[in-house]
Amino acid sequence: MVVYLFSMKARVLSGVQPTGNLHIGNYLGALKNWVALQHSYESIFCIVDLHAITVYQKPDELRAKIREIAGIFVAAGIDPKHSSIIVQSQVAGHAELAWMLTCVTPIGWLYRMTQFKAKSEAQETIGDGLLQYPVLMAADILLYQAAIVPVGEDQSQHLELARDIAQRFNSQYAETFKMPATKLPAVGARVMGLDEPDKKMSKSAAGSNHAVAILDPPDVIRKKIMRATTDSLPGVDVERPGPGVQNLLSIHQAFSGWTTDQMKNHFAGMRYGDLKKQVGEMVAQSLEPIQKRYQEITADPAYLDSILEEGAQRVIPIAESTVKRVKERMGLYVRQ
Ligand code: ATP
Ligand code: MG
Repeated sequence: MVVYLFSMKARVLSGVQPTGNLHIGNYLGALKNWVALQHSYESIFCIVDLHAITVYQKPDELRAKIREIAGIFVAAGIDPKHSSIIVQSQVAGHAELAWMLTCVTPIGWLYRMTQFKAKSEAQETIGDGLLQYPVLMAADILLYQAAIVPVGEDQSQHLELARDIAQRFNSQYAETFKMPATKLPAVGARVMGLDEPDKKMSKSAAGSNHAVAILDPPDVIRKKIMRATTDSLPGVDVERPGPGVQNLLSIHQAFSGWTTDQMKNHFAGMRYGDLKKQVGEMVAQSLEPIQKRYQEITADPAYLDSILEEGAQRVIPIAESTVKRVKERMGLYVRQ
């Protein structure tokens, strides 16, 4: 524990909501990057269940999803011996700090958030949690003084807000929070929906052909990609591909790691049917080892519990020390 409290390595923090099925956008935008970064930093990866409840979740499904996501984290390559995998609601500091930060956040900042506008459109009544979501996200990050937050492009605006909130707190009270930096992947930062290539791929989007889930069987993956929306050109225009084709090319490049030149040479002029076949194959083959490991890991539920318990035990002292410092700074009562 002492190692974690006084580690000299900068801290990385990121999270995923346990809602819907994790898809290749979550993998390429977030998880794959976490795996690559984890050993260069002290890493905390969070299953953000308090974020999930900003829109109604069936309790049994939420409980099951939390475990599924923990399994996917490990299967994708997060090393639980080195990185802390935690469930947000297990660490009281997230919600506690979120309240204190809510009190320094102007409401106008929250109404401007694109995600709030998009997600509230789909609701009959808008829960206050949906508006407060970015403040809770700021708390997740600032609680651990995270230096780097690897996320998909859709979260850039929330991260900017987290820095604004940190700055406002620091100037109203005293220098307390480090400014967290946003880290986007070079390719795959914004994977688009297969059926609607003008909208980002989302767990919460409807449409059976919208997203490829990390756990989709290989034949389902191939079928979904064969059905992806393209355009009416005869083949791939590598200089100016339409949004659907661009999306397929980016997905391939993010999985294959090919250079832009390799991509252009290989795909220039290719018929869409062949492009889709090759992208489907690349995705199915890349996900196969993750799916195998997932089956092994989830065959032992006690193992998952132990990972989540160990993660919580490691991070709780960090969270408690930040909450205590913030309380002191704000003049709240702190037990001696
Ligand atoms: P929801 O619809 O429930 O919000 P989501 O697909 O947006 O689901 P989140 O749990 O909100 O998933 O996000 C988890 C991580 O995945 C974040 O870092 C986010 O930026 C990233 N991410 C989400 N969608 C994409 C995408 N289409 N492309 C790249 N990264 C993404
Ligand atoms: Mg999201």
